[in-house]
Amino acid sequence: TEQNFDVVVIGSGGAGLSAAITAKNAGADVVIIEKMPTVGGNSLITGGQMNVPGNWVQKSMGIEDSIDIFVKDTLKGGDYLGDPEMVQLMAEQALPAAEWLRDYIKVDFYQDQLFQFGGHSVKRGLIPRNHTGAEWISKFMAKTDELEIPIHTRTTATALIQDQNGRVIGVEAEKNGQKITYMADRGVVMATGGFGANVAMRTKYVPELDTRYGTTNARGIMGDGIVMAEKLNAKTHNMESIQTYPICHTDTGVISLIADSRFFGAIVVNKEGNRFVEELERRDVISRAILAQTNQQAYVLWGSEIEEIAETVKVHKDEFAELNRKGMMFKADSIEELASKFGVDKQALLAQVDRVNQFAKSGKDGEFNHRGGLKPIMKAPFYMLVAKPSVHHTMGGLMTDTKTRVLDTKGQVIDGLYAAGEVTGMTHGSNRLGGNAITDITVFGRIAGKEAAAH
Ligand code: ADP
Repeated sequence: TEQNFDVVVIGSGGAGLSAAITAKNAGADVVIIEKMPTVGGNSLITGGQMNVPGNWVQKSMGIEDSIDIFVKDTLKGGDYLGDPEMVQLMAEQALPAAEWLRDYIKVDFYQDQLFQFGGHSVKRGLIPRNHTGAEWISKFMAKTDELEIPIHTRTTATALIQDQNGRVIGVEAEKNGQKITYMADRGVVMATGGFGANVAMRTKYVPELDTRYGTTNARGIMGDGIVMAEKLNAKTHNMESIQTYPICHTDTGVISLIADSRFFGAIVVNKEGNRFVEELERRDVISRAILAQTNQQAYVLWGSEIEEIAETVKVHKDEFAELNRKGMMFKADSIEELASKFGVDKQALLAQVDRVNQFAKSGKDGEFNHRGGLKPIMKAPFYMLVAKPSVHHTMGGLMTDTKTRVLDTKGQVIDGLYAAGEVTGMTHGSNRLGGNAITDITVFGRIAGKEAAAH
């Protein structure tokens, strides 16, 4: 069967939803196709923090920030491999994008707290309600309903259709073994996410990232958009830049948001009861360090002093219940008890915690020079979970210009084809800073929707 639209958006994560809603508001007849039964992709399962320089929460907390500092942090964090022009555009458009999310999409951001991931000079991460992407995906869904934008789930895009001049005019898709052709009068937006769940594709670029790593990604994140666009000679960039996340579920690979207590002073130890890396090191450094430990696993430990500030157990109740049921996380009145639950060396762990408490008091971590300063771990209850690294984000992808038009290997625009989100490889360089993906996908998703609708 054949269906006709102005704009066809492939993928229903944050980038695709932002693009579709913007295109619809620009007067285009839009459809979203999504291969999974559910909407949201990786965007649904993120912590959802969004870096926005000069945002309203910073203003009310008296935090000074600027577009310039954000650009510098982002470029530096990616070893200067991000595209400066695209990073500048992302930084400039971050605030309007966040205001659009807040005022139009009705995303509920906390008014009195901000997140600061590694690599950022100041606190600038807006936090959605309950610290998960579910807040904004559910609000996006409500908006697509209101605007009557159809979302065709269980529908996999398999190829792009070009006319004789090379302009992209539609998408071949498959649903339950049936072929569907989606014609796009104005444009196709590629928003299929990265390729973190595709072991063959990621080891092609980085052999080290084999099955020892899980993946934090949703199942659909297989690099389809990159493969489809490459058939049209699209140019890729930075494909070997693949980010791991150190602290994840040891069976499913899912990110352990509950262990974000690490940003507030939780320590990471091995089975021998010793710290082995600075807890705020880069994600790749911590990941590799964990794989070098006994059983390729690590244990995250914190007490009530940290929980009172971080509140991760309080916020991520379901995660705690699930990890606890599987024997992967425990809460206890003593550190000894936690050590025996996991078979971690008790005496060594107690001695380690003693050292941490001294470092917390003196303000100087004499072992790993913790940049946030260690916090005491003295007050019960204590919390401990086991973790291993997963592949988290693929920084590389399609090359686009400032209008999100996809470029070919000669640097020419592929007419009719736009791309936004993790499928692109422009902004993060070698290493994406935490909280930058949401900024990236919202800013460029909006641009892609506007541009596709206009042509
Ligand atoms: P982003 O953060 O860039 O928006 P996400 O990972 O959140 O990316 O979302 C990408 C979405 O695209 C996922 O829901 C994924 O299932 C979907 N997707 C991936 N490949 C295809 C495809 N071939 N056809 C349709 N949808 C796809």
